[in-house]
Amino acid sequence: MTTPSSLPLTPAPSYQQRSHRHRHRHLSPSKVPLSNRSLLNTSCSAQMLLSSPTPQLRKAASTDTLKTTHSTPLPTTKTGTAGTLAAVANPVRSCSSLTSTTSGRSSSSSSSSSSNIITAQVSPASFTKIKLLGKGDVGKVYLVKHIENGKLFALKVLSKKEMVKRNKIKRAYAEQAILATANHPFIVPLYHSFQSNHYLYFCMEFCVGGEFFRALQRRPGRVLVENDAKFYAAEVVAALEYLHLMGIVFRDLKPENILLHESGHLMLSDFDLSVQSPAAGRPSIIQSSLPFWQRPMLDTKSCANLRTNSFVGTEEYLAPEVIEGNGHSSSVDWWALGIFLYEMLFGFTPFKGCTRNDTFDLILHKVLEFPDFSSNPYYTGPGVSSQCKTIIRKLLHKDETKRLGARAGASEVKSHAFFKSINFALLRNMKPPIIPAKSNAIDAVHFKHMKESVSFDLARQQQLQQEQQQPPSPPATDDDDEKTLDYQDPFAEFSSVTLRRDFP
Ligand code: AMP
Repeated sequence: MTTPSSLPLTPAPSYQQRSHRHRHRHLSPSKVPLSNRSLLNTSCSAQMLLSSPTPQLRKAASTDTLKTTHSTPLPTTKTGTAGTLAAVANPVRSCSSLTSTTSGRSSSSSSSSSSNIITAQVSPASFTKIKLLGKGDVGKVYLVKHIENGKLFALKVLSKKEMVKRNKIKRAYAEQAILATANHPFIVPLYHSFQSNHYLYFCMEFCVGGEFFRALQRRPGRVLVENDAKFYAAEVVAALEYLHLMGIVFRDLKPENILLHESGHLMLSDFDLSVQSPAAGRPSIIQSSLPFWQRPMLDTKSCANLRTNSFVGTEEYLAPEVIEGNGHSSSVDWWALGIFLYEMLFGFTPFKGCTRNDTFDLILHKVLEFPDFSSNPYYTGPGVSSQCKTIIRKLLHKDETKRLGARAGASEVKSHAFFKSINFALLRNMKPPIIPAKSNAIDAVHFKHMKESVSFDLARQQQLQQEQQQPPSPPATDDDDEKTLDYQDPFAEFSSVTLRRDFP
C-alpha cells in the first residue's frame, strides 16, 4: 500500500514534466534515420528534459504496414435487423480456457463467447451524451447514459471518413475483433459495437478513475512505492498473459492506455495498434532445462507466434527491435512492461531523449541506469529493491531473444523473484493501492475538462440513418455529417453486435 509520507512531496530534480500528448501520429520508417546517428550525451536526456519549459508529448507511431495480421471481421448484421449471431464470435482461441488461471472471471464465459454475442440491441439514439471524456487518434470517447436502464458507458465514436482518410479501416476491424473476444477482468469490456452512416461506435465499460497516467501524475513525486508498482505491474502481466494466449500482441502499453476501474483495478484499453495472429498457436509446456523441484512452465509465447514489421508504438515505449525494423514479436510487450515499471517507480522513462531520434538512439544504445536519489533532498522513500532493478534490467534487455519473457512468455515473468509475494490468481480480490475518489460517476471528476468544437449529436445520427434508409434522401447541406457517403462504405462488414456480459 502507498505510504505517501515516504514519498517526495516535491518532484525530484530528475522528474520530467509531461502533459498530455498527441498519440498515434503516423511515422514512416523512412523518416526515422537510424544510421550514422551519434549517441546522445545522457546528460541531455535527464537534465535537459527536466528543465525543458515545453511539456513533453508522448506520441504513438505507426506505419500501418501490417504484414502478418488479418483480423477477421465479425460477420455483418445491419443495425436493427433481427436474428441471433451464434456464429459471430471471432474464433475464440483454443487456449482461451486456460486463461481462467489468471482471470477472476470464469473460463466458461470466455469459451462460450459465441453464444453471448447477439444482434446489436442498441443504436445511437439509445444513449444520451453526457460529456466528452477523451480524444484518441481518430475518435472521441464520450460518457453516455443508456436511456432505458440509466447505466453509464464510455462510447468511442470513430468517424468512417477519417478512418478511410487515415487508412485505418483494418485497424477498426481489428480493434472490434479483439474487444469482442476478450473477456478478462483487466481488459476493458465491450458491451455493444454498432454503426451509423458516418460513424462506428464501441460501447464500453466506463472506467470512472480515468487514465492511470493521470492518477500517476497526481501522486506525490508522480511515483509509487515499490509494492504498489508491483501490484499494478502484476495486473498488467495478467492481462498481457491473457492477450498473448489469445494470439494478440498489445504493442502500445503505456500508462495512457491503462484505465482505472472504480474498484481501483486496472483495465487495458485502446487496441488500435494491437495485432492478432491469424492462427494462434497452442500453449506448450517448458520443462527440460528446469531443476526437478520447479514446476513446468506454460509457454504463452507460442500462442502469439507472429512477427510483424510495422513501426508502431509510443516513442518512449518502443522496443529496440521495432526501431531497427527487423520484425518484432510479443516480446515488445515485455519491454514495454519494463518501461512501465520504471516509470511508475521513478516518474520518468529511462530512454527519453530531447528529440525523437535521440530517444531512439538511447533505446538502442544507452545502458540502463537507475537514478540515485541520495543527493535528492526531497526523497525520503524506501528506494527500490535489487530484485526490482533486476527484473527491470531483464525486461529491458536490448536483445529480444535474451529478454525476460522471450523463452516462455508470461509464466517466466510471473515466476521472477520480484513477483514472489504476488498471488496472481487472487489479484482481482486484492485491494488496489489507488481507489478512485468516490463521487458521482456522472461528474467524471478524474477526466480533464474537454470542449468539443462541434457538438456530436447521437440522436441526429440515428435520424440520418433512418432518413437515408427511406428515400428520398435528405437535401445536401454544408454539414459534413448530413451528406450521404461519397465513397463505397468499407465498413459494410462491421458487425453491429451486443455482447452479453456480467458487469465487472
Ligand atoms: P482511446 O481512443 O481509446 O485512446 O481513448 C481516448 C481517451 O478516452 C482515453 O485516453 C481516456 O481518457 C478516455 N477513455 C477511453 N475509453 C474509456 C473508458 N472505457 N472509460 C473511461 N474513459 C475512457
